[in-house]
Amino acid sequence: MADSETFAFQAEINQLLSLIINTFYSNKEIFLRELISNSSDALDKIRFESLTDKSKLDGQPELFIHIIPDKASNTLTIIDSGVGMTKADLVNNLGTIARSGTKEFMEAITAGADVSMIGQFGVGFYSAYLVADKVVVTTKHNDDEQYVWESQAGGSFTVTRDTSGESLGRGTKMTLYLKEDQLEYLEERRLKDLVKKHSEFISYPISLWVEKTTEKEISDDEDDEEKEKKEEDGEVEDVDEDKEKEEKKKKKIKEVSHEWDLVNKQKPIWMRKPEEITKEEYAAFYKSLTNDWEEHLNVKHFSVEGQLEFKAILFVPKRAPFDLFDTKKKQNNIKLYVRRVFIMDNCEELIPEYLSFVKGIVDSEDLPLNISREMLQQNKILKVIRKNLVKKCIELFQEIAENKEDYAKFYEAFSKNLKLGIHEDSQNKTKLAELLRYHSSKSGDEQTSLKDYVTRMKEGQNDIYYITGESKKAVENSPFLEKLKKKGYEVLYMVDAIDEYSVGQLKEFEGKKLVSATKEGLKLEETEDEKQKQEALKEKFEGLCKVIKDVLGDKVEKVVVSDRVVDSPCCLVTGEYGWTANMERIMKAQALRDSSMAGYMSSKKTMEINPENAIMEELRKRADADKNDKSVKDLVLLLFETALLTSGFSLDEPNTFGNRIHRMLKLGLSIDEDADEDADVPALEEAGDDAESKMEEVD
Ligand code: ADP
Repeated sequence: MADSETFAFQAEINQLLSLIINTFYSNKEIFLRELISNSSDALDKIRFESLTDKSKLDGQPELFIHIIPDKASNTLTIIDSGVGMTKADLVNNLGTIARSGTKEFMEAITAGADVSMIGQFGVGFYSAYLVADKVVVTTKHNDDEQYVWESQAGGSFTVTRDTSGESLGRGTKMTLYLKEDQLEYLEERRLKDLVKKHSEFISYPISLWVEKTTEKEISDDEDDEEKEKKEEDGEVEDVDEDKEKEEKKKKKIKEVSHEWDLVNKQKPIWMRKPEEITKEEYAAFYKSLTNDWEEHLNVKHFSVEGQLEFKAILFVPKRAPFDLFDTKKKQNNIKLYVRRVFIMDNCEELIPEYLSFVKGIVDSEDLPLNISREMLQQNKILKVIRKNLVKKCIELFQEIAENKEDYAKFYEAFSKNLKLGIHEDSQNKTKLAELLRYHSSKSGDEQTSLKDYVTRMKEGQNDIYYITGESKKAVENSPFLEKLKKKGYEVLYMVDAIDEYSVGQLKEFEGKKLVSATKEGLKLEETEDEKQKQEALKEKFEGLCKVIKDVLGDKVEKVVVSDRVVDSPCCLVTGEYGWTANMERIMKAQALRDSSMAGYMSSKKTMEINPENAIMEELRKRADADKNDKSVKDLVLLLFETALLTSGFSLDEPNTFGNRIHRMLKLGLSIDEDADEDADVPALEEAGDDAESKMEEVD
C-alpha cells in the first residue's frame, strides 16, 4: 500500500457532515439518487470528451452504472465508467473546497427545508453519510493513476495511490459501509424501487447485481458429479428428500448465481408521444432533471419538423432557485442532446438569459455530434432552435396565465425575468408586455394587465399613466396622481426597481404611450374653458414663479404652474428622458456603479406649483407685495424640501430641514425664539441683515 495522505475537511463541509450525520431525517433514501446523478454527470463528461477524441474511451469502452449490494460485508457499491477524478480532483471536490451552496444548504435546512434538496445546492455527494458511516471512493481518471479516498467523517479524509491491483480502467467506485440500521439498502427490491422512483431517466444503463436462484433437475449420476463439484466450490445445495425417495433417478437442486439486471429500461421520455405520458411521469422527469423536490408548474412537450427537426420538453418550476440572479453562477437550464446523445448541460446559445429559469431538454436531429462550444456560437441551426424555444416559453407562460392562482405564483417568482426580457428581447417585448401585471389606482388588491387597463381607459384618455416608486404605499397617495385621479384616469403602480428599465424600453402598448406621472410632458386633455383658466393662472403666478426660482437657484431647472397637482401646494417633476426620483434612489443604492452617468442622467427637477392651493396663493400675495420678503424665502425653502420628500427624492441635508420644521412648531406654539438657546436658526418672521446672513449659513 502506498503512503496515504490525510487532509482536513474544509470547515463548512465539516459542519455539513455533522449536520447530515447528527440530524434525524426520515428521507435518507435520496442518497442513492444523488450518487447515481453524480455518476451520470461523470459519464456525460467522458462521452462529451470522446466525441472529439475517441481514444478517451480506451480505458473502458462501455458506459454504465453498476450497483452492487453485498450482504456479507454490509456494503453498497456504486460503480460508473465516467470521467473519474484525478488526485487533485479528489482532494478538491470531495473535501477541501466548499461550494457556494454548502452554507446556503445548511441555512435552508436550519430553516426547515428537507434534506432531499441537497442536490440543488451542489453538495449531493455528502448525502452518502446519511446511510453510511464510512465511504471509500476509488477512482481512475485518464490523466492520472488510480486513487482511493476514504473517510469516516470526523474532520478528515485520506487519499492513497491504489496499489491493490484491482483496476477500474476508468471511472469511479463508491463503497458505502452502511450503518447498522440502514441495511434495507442491501435489499434488491428496495434498490430497484429506488432507481425506478428517482433515477428512471438517467440515460445510461443502470444494472443491479442480483442473486438468482434456479431449480435444476438432474439425474443421479449427473448429481454425483455435480455434488462433488459443488462441494469443491463450497456452494450450498438443497435436496428435496421426499422426491428422492419416490423418484430415484431424478433430483432437484437449487442453484444460486449472480447476474446483472438492467433497471432502467424506458426509452427517453421525449421520444415518446405526449398523449401517452402521464403528469406523474413528467413530474418524475422534471425532478430528475433539476433536483427540484417539488413538481413543475407547467410543461410543454413538442417536436418541430420540416427544414429542421428537434424534440423538446420545457418546464416552468414553481419557485425561483436560491441563486436565480447570481450572475457568477451559470444556470443549469436546458440540456442539449443530439440524436439521443447527451452533448452538454448548460447550452447558453439555446435560450436567452432572461429565460434561464426554464428547465428542460432539446434533442436535435440536425446538429453534428462532435459539436464544440465554439461552434455553437455561430451555429444557424441553434439560432432557429432558440427562436422556437422562446416562442414556446411564451406560450407556456400564456397557458399559466389562464389560471389565476398559478399565475400569481409564477408572477411572484419570475416577473423580474419577464421585465428583463422586455429590456433584452425587443422582438418579443410586445408579447412579454401582455404578461405583465401591476397594481393600479383602480385595481384594489388585485393586479391588472396592460390589456385590461386599456379596456378601462376613459373617453379622451390617450395615454397609459404610471408612477414608479419604492412601494405601493409610497406611490398611491403621491401628489403627482391628484389631477389624474380627479379626472378618473387609472394609474399603474410600478414599484419594482426593474420597472424603471423595462418601462423605459417598452414605451408603448397597443399604440398607447406609457406616460410617467412624475415626469415632464404629462399633457391631459383640456376643454377650451380649462385652457383659458390655466392661461390666466399662469399669468397671475408668473411673478411668484420667478421669485421661487431666484430663491432655489440651481436646485431646480425651472418653476412652472402645474397641471397635475390638485391638493398639494407643489411637486417636483423630472425631465422626460432623465431619471425619475425612483431611479435616482435605485442608482444611489448601487453604490459601486459607475458614477459618470449620474452627472447627466440625474434628475433635472422642475418645480410645479399649484395655483389653487391656499399656501401658494398667500405666498403669491406676499411676493407680489414685496419681492424681498424674508418670510417668502424661508417658506419657499421649506416647501421645496417637503416637495422633495413627497415626490420621492431624498434630502441631502435632513438636519436643515428638521430645524426649519422645529421653528415652524415653535411659531405654532407661540414660543419666544429669544428665550431659546438655539439662536442659530433665524425666526421665520424676523427681518434684517443679521437674520439673513444666518439663514445663508443654514442653507
Ligand atoms: P455536484 O455533483 O452537485 O457538483 P457533489 O457534492 O455531489 O456536487 O460532488 C462534488 C464533485 O465531485 C462533483 O462536482 C464532481 O466533480 C465530483 N464527483 C462526485 N461524484 C463523482 C463521480 N461519480 N465521478 C466523477 N466525479 C465525481
